[in-house]
Amino acid sequence: MTSYAIDPPEIPSVPVAGGDSRFPVRRVYCIGRNYAAHAVEMGHDPDREPPFFFQKNPDNLDASGEFPYPPQTSDVHHEVELAVALKSGGTDIPLERALDHVWGYAVSLDMTRRDLQGEMKKMGRPWEIGKAFERSAPIGPFVPAETTGHLSEGRIELKVNGNVTQEGNLNQMIWKVPEMINYLSQFYELKAGDVLLSGTPSGVGPVVRGDRMHATIEGLGELDVVVV
Ligand code: MN
Repeated sequence: MTSYAIDPPEIPSVPVAGGDSRFPVRRVYCIGRNYAAHAVEMGHDPDREPPFFFQKNPDNLDASGEFPYPPQTSDVHHEVELAVALKSGGTDIPLERALDHVWGYAVSLDMTRRDLQGEMKKMGRPWEIGKAFERSAPIGPFVPAETTGHLSEGRIELKVNGNVTQEGNLNQMIWKVPEMINYLSQFYELKAGDVLLSGTPSGVGPVVRGDRMHATIEGLGELDVVVV
């Protein structure tokens, strides 16, 4: 048995729907600007330029149903996204084999300190401080692909306090899930436990303490998160 110098931290994990097992998380890759209407609202050209990714930390995923308003910001935005869990991986995964590596799907939120992200963009610096903070990725339980089938279309929506703020369809993704897996595997070795956040439709906006977010993805499920 390995002897650790300090008590090892817990393995980050997300509940699995309809059981008491959990999905262990290794890495979290997030794609930027993957719905044309969202690229436009952020001031970018929606043309299909190569995809780009950033990472959140595995322990940023949080299934508690509460999102604590983070420090050092006054402009936190919601981004509703389809999360994809991998059961296996590799390098140079061909497009036609990509979905073989998918274990399941979840409804998630890529919460963003938009003011800090904006400053980093201006200075040409990395986005971590805007994206990869404590509990920055509220997530629902992972549902096995065996149950849902692979999700390539279906309504994706976010309501804040009962009003629809974001809406779109999974079929509007510029880079589809198999393409993301294929692309990422050319730069990284993907492995079991990796999670992909697949981008957000238009309508992102700020939340404040007390707001209730209700995210739904057709054919998958719902996620309720209160800002505290
Ligand atoms: Mn996002």
